[in-house]
Amino acid sequence: MRTEDLEVNEEEPALNWFKGVWNLHISPKIKMFMWKLFQKAIPVGEILVARHITTDGRCKRCGTLESIYHLFLQCPFARKIWRAAPFVSTFENSGLIDLKSVWSNLCEKNYVPPTGLVSGQLAPWILWHIWCARNQLIFEGKTITEEEALTKAITAAKEWTSSQEQRPPPPRKIPPRPQTMTNCDVLNSDAAWRAPNHTAGLG
Ligand SMILES: [Zn+2]
Repeated sequence: MRTEDLEVNEEEPALNWFKGVWNLHISPKIKMFMWKLFQKAIPVGEILVARHITTDGRCKRCGTLESIYHLFLQCPFARKIWRAAPFVSTFENSGLIDLKSVWSNLCEKNYVPPTGLVSGQLAPWILWHIWCARNQLIFEGKTITEEEALTKAITAAKEWTSSQEQRPPPPRKIPPRPQTMTNCDVLNSDAAWRAPNHTAGLG
């Protein structure tokens, strides 16, 4: 392994953390994973070698040095997943130099209509399932196909979205009824406001 392979590129593009990680429609677990990924705190082979934890930093699938860039973008396994992802426009990842430079583009991609995914949410789930597939292969000896990994990512993204939509609204506090006075007429009134379609009701 060449020493220059381990050097950190000082001219990496800046990342908009709010737009690129914290505001994405994904679970907190995946946000933390994304944060670690962009901080280069994910123990891929290249980083393990640099920290003298292992001497073999090669990708278990293809034998290339396992950098973050390789594992998540350039490994044939990852490339096949990105090519098959249901983006409206194809994601071409050949010739890219790192994940940060392409991340905003990936987050802005729309999906083909039947997918039912929210804009920007699939790419993080794909990265997560590439990572899970890699760990399954190394630690459990299990191999999953690119199609299975992509299906898992799409399913997880959809399940997250529907779980958020089905979450019940917080209980409404009902004020105590005022005591009714005798020998007088009572007039009850109520009003409601629906923010999503800007409609109001009065009764
Ligand atoms: Zn590989």
